Amino acid sequence: MRSFLDRLGVPRRINAAGTLTRLGGSLMAPEVLDAMREAASSSVDMAELQSAASRRIAALTGAEAGLVTSGASAGLTLATAACLAGWDAARMAALPDTRGMPARMLMLRTHRNSYDHAVRLAGAQIVDVGHNDRGTGAGVRGVEPWEIESAVDAQTAGFVFVAGAGGAAALPVVIEVMHRHGLPVVVDAAAQLPPASNLHRFVDQGADLVVFSGGKALGGPQASGLLIGRRALVGSALLQMMDMDVHPATWAPAELVDTTRLRGTPLHGIGRGFKVGKEEIAGLLCALERFVARDEAAQVDVWTQRLRAMAVSLGGQPLLRATLREAAPGGRAVPVLDLTIGAEGRPDPTAAAALCRRLQAQARPAHLAEDRLDEGVLTINPLALSPQDDSALVAGLVAALATSPAP
Ligand SMILES: *Cc1c(COP(=O)(O)O)cnc(C)c1O
Repeated sequence: MRSFLDRLGVPRRINAAGTLTRLGGSLMAPEVLDAMREAASSSVDMAELQSAASRRIAALTGAEAGLVTSGASAGLTLATAACLAGWDAARMAALPDTRGMPARMLMLRTHRNSYDHAVRLAGAQIVDVGHNDRGTGAGVRGVEPWEIESAVDAQTAGFVFVAGAGGAAALPVVIEVMHRHGLPVVVDAAAQLPPASNLHRFVDQGADLVVFSGGKALGGPQASGLLIGRRALVGSALLQMMDMDVHPATWAPAELVDTTRLRGTPLHGIGRGFKVGKEEIAGLLCALERFVARDEAAQVDVWTQRLRAMAVSLGGQPLLRATLREAAPGGRAVPVLDLTIGAEGRPDPTAAAALCRRLQAQARPAHLAEDRLDEGVLTINPLALSPQDDSALVAGLVAALATSPAP
């Protein structure tokens, strides 16, 4: 019997680019697949499953509550919807129409990115705060409390803070000002794992909601994510995602749902289209347990040794120079191998782009991280690179370099 992917004619790709969504995200461990298989062949009450998931996520992250979403992007939309609607069933039904309700979400100007769309999807309008002096090199100042303060008005519904986008020192300032006004702070920490300590770091700092991707370093299903934080907000987000084709007389809400604050039975909410399957919930929980239990330093050693071995194998290549960027506590969490492409170590962005195209056209297509392609540097990221593929990647690189047009 040929394998399923072979019958479909879809090649397996060597992924040294990281847990990119367009390459299918993380590679899952057999235990995670077992959890998904078990869930797949059973009927469960989804509210009970999400309630159990919430207790488990809370125990593992230190948050009051947690929810499995269909990804960090869906988590941002649900978090925004929770900030906008709270327990108001009429507002839940109205979204993304936000007429008559506070719907402005503040963001630092330097944090705007293409996932803003997930925030606007709930109906919110994003209001930029501060300037971009550091980004442009025009000055040395970050955001000041008065700049946040003066952006808050009666239409403000919350703040979205992107962790890892720089300006980490501003988070406590943002939280202090917003909480003084009784408004929530959402943190996008989609790709801030490892280290596992980040699972509780932002909640410990006072963030009200935090989103993580399940299909990146957590090693869960590609279409999964975590939304953790305050119980009432996570409950509102859950309610706006659950299937609500229920009879009000027999509805058994998830335990996170505070029926004392609901004036009735809500309809399908804005998150109904982001439904998460029992398989994803089971898989992500299993992946989260494994991630938290893992010896992080030992994992870094394994990655580092694999990258060193690849650097040695690539040592004699005239058109490539390999440099290890090591992981360090408090700094880079995952080591990577930078490949400077060009004759005599002179970076050549055109040659780097051509090399990427040749690697992707090989019988066994291979992908490198292209974050620094414009500097003539390609990067091997070990996160989603199967150890069995290390030697095939090196062989593919050598073959692709050998067919390089002369510089
Ligand atoms: C990857 C990413 C997302 C989206 O995550 P998904 O789980 O793929 O939906 C959102 N924000 C940031 C900063 C990311 O890196």
